[in-house]
Amino acid sequence: MIIKNSSYAISAVREDQYPTDNLPEIALSGRSNVGKSSLINTLLSRKNLARTSAQPGKTQTLNFYLVNQEFYLVDVPGYGYAKVSQKKRQQFGTMIQDYLETRANLQGLIILMDSRHEPTKNDVAMYNYALYLNLPILIICTKIDKVKKNQQNQVINTLKQKINLNYDNVSVITFSSVQKLHVKEVWQWIEENL
Ligand code: GDP
Repeated sequence: MIIKNSSYAISAVREDQYPTDNLPEIALSGRSNVGKSSLINTLLSRKNLARTSAQPGKTQTLNFYLVNQEFYLVDVPGYGYAKVSQKKRQQFGTMIQDYLETRANLQGLIILMDSRHEPTKNDVAMYNYALYLNLPILIICTKIDKVKKNQQNQVINTLKQKINLNYDNVSVITFSSVQKLHVKEVWQWIEENL
């Protein structure tokens, strides 16, 4: 995909704030600090469109980024951030569920997991939830550059031992924002699902 332009469009916490131009949307979800903002910036070749932050869990809204005036990438707030209160977490949960379960424009869900670690409980819960939503799912194993070269090939195999990836609607790609690795492959998946 050739990115002609991209811009931050809007933040939303409820349905009446979602964009109304009826374009397709691809959502990105993952635990705080997994590398989601970096991935969005890398995909869009922008330095700081999505704010990478030393303060995990800061983004508490659904952030819509308009690409080529054709579709939106939707940054879903990071889950599993311990410092957020129980009540706040419930509010996030509801906001995220409302969006993922009711948004007709939503064409696919990207779930980010850290290549260096086993999937967390929250990662597994998010994945199972995504399967239940029955959307096309792309799992991106982030920060692959941090895994030793001779172990990089094993990352997806190890993941397969932890969660069942054997579904027609599930794809997996390793990724590095630092090395810009597999940017093309991610765009290809997005294009196929728009
Ligand atoms: P977010 O909270 O999921 O949006 O995560 P960020 O994109 O803000 O990244 C969290 C931290 O991981 C930052 O310090 C990033 O520089 C770092 N990071 C993100 N992607 C990569 C990557 O591909 N490789 C490496 N080595 N570090 C990364």
